[in-house]
Amino acid sequence: MRTFPSYRGDLRYVCTQCRGHFPGDDLLYVCPACSGVLLLEDASFETLKARDGAGWQALFDARAASCNPALAGIFRFYELIAPVLEEEDILCLGEGNTPIIPAAPALREKLGLEFAFKNEGQNPSASFKDRGMACVFSYLKSLVRKHGWTSLLTVCASTGDTSASAAMYASYLGDPVTSIVLLPHGKVTPQQLSQPLGSGARVLEIPGVFDDCMKVVEFLSENYRVALLNSKNSWRILGQESYAFEVAQWRRWDLREVCVFVPIGNAGNITAVMQGFLKLHALNIIADLPRIFGVQSHHADPVYRYYAAPAQNRAYAAVAVQPSVAQAAMIGNPVSFPRVRMLAERYQYLGGPGSFQVIQVTEQAIIDGMLEANRHGHIACPQGGECLAGMQSALRHGLISSRNFCILDATAHALKFADFQNLYFTAAFSPDFGITPKPELVNAPELVLSPQERQDLGEDLFIRETAARIAGRLELSPRNAA
Ligand SMILES: *Cc1c(COP(=O)(O)O)cnc(C)c1O
Ligand SMILES: [Zn+2]
Repeated sequence: MRTFPSYRGDLRYVCTQCRGHFPGDDLLYVCPACSGVLLLEDASFETLKARDGAGWQALFDARAASCNPALAGIFRFYELIAPVLEEEDILCLGEGNTPIIPAAPALREKLGLEFAFKNEGQNPSASFKDRGMACVFSYLKSLVRKHGWTSLLTVCASTGDTSASAAMYASYLGDPVTSIVLLPHGKVTPQQLSQPLGSGARVLEIPGVFDDCMKVVEFLSENYRVALLNSKNSWRILGQESYAFEVAQWRRWDLREVCVFVPIGNAGNITAVMQGFLKLHALNIIADLPRIFGVQSHHADPVYRYYAAPAQNRAYAAVAVQPSVAQAAMIGNPVSFPRVRMLAERYQYLGGPGSFQVIQVTEQAIIDGMLEANRHGHIACPQGGECLAGMQSALRHGLISSRNFCILDATAHALKFADFQNLYFTAAFSPDFGITPKPELVNAPELVLSPQERQDLGEDLFIRETAARIAGRLELSPRNAA
């Protein structure tokens, strides 16, 4: 399949607050009328219904075999993502199309139901953020082309992965695009800090937490000429919807009994996942909506608190966060909350009560979940552990059963969060995390002999003695034993 789709949509911003709409041909972060958070929708979406559900399924299945890089990754679903981009605008660095790995048999047996991890850590910058960035940078590329801009400064606040991803795409595009990232000083992991530094971004650190960085970035975007790359930028949400499309395609478009678990931080991801499934449903590409479970730590749980209250007296309030191993989701005032509220209403209307729920889990359950998964051959980050903990909680509370198939979002690669694993293994968490290491999950390297011992043995005996000690520790039997 070499031809690029001919369909072009009519994208416009819709305000989640006043429901006003505004043309999608420029960057807009908040509603010009009421400052509400925006979403992008295709005003021509209805015309896509000319193709029936089976027709769309066949098209997307055929594209899975396409060699065209502009239809690879997230743009396999071009018509549902940003069908205003030209082929030359599309930037693909290998994002999307991440593997869905069924739980190891022993883990599945231990937990008592079937589930799988979608390994978002296998995206190029090792987190799901690349899906949204591929879309927004493709859009920026189209703006540069159309307007002939000679300079474009992009800014974002980050808990780590947004900046890693933004810096990577910006440095790939190069002139005239440059990347500035704002990070909370000392609050991102060394791996996450190394990423934008390695990509050559300008990294500005601020004392405080993510929510503080976000406020500064918003102020900058309101008062200066910069492109804001946080998920307030609705183009990121569009690209992120590809996660839902891939899940549906992996299940051969049959989502009966499927439950999808997603960690909630700034709530952009869960917004996109809901919107993605709603689009598939509207086009009859799927007949059933999967149930969606948002998961939050008890140390950063404003969305959980909102939905935990009875429907008639819900009130949203930001929370002050406490330290969390699910650091990428450690956000007390999620920018996308109004989007979640709007979409959850529609989702529940179509999917029935309980089709969207939010679950709260402890820090202990999050890190234990991550370690348990990884001891079974997975590569989950703490947020993936959070999903596992959420699934276990849902099972305990009877919200799901062994009839269900759960898909857990392992949002980043485990390696990005190696320091938390290390704190656990060395029992070095500060008390405010509230985490006690379980001995059966702890692991440590064993030094077989000291440098002094090696020197004393000399080179002749070194190999023989080291091997003998290892054989002793492992209780190996000799090869020639009867
Ligand atoms: C950004 C991020 C999250 C949180 O996603 P939101 O869209 O902010 O809710 C979770 N996990 C990882 C690894 C992330 O990078
Ligand atoms: Zn508005």
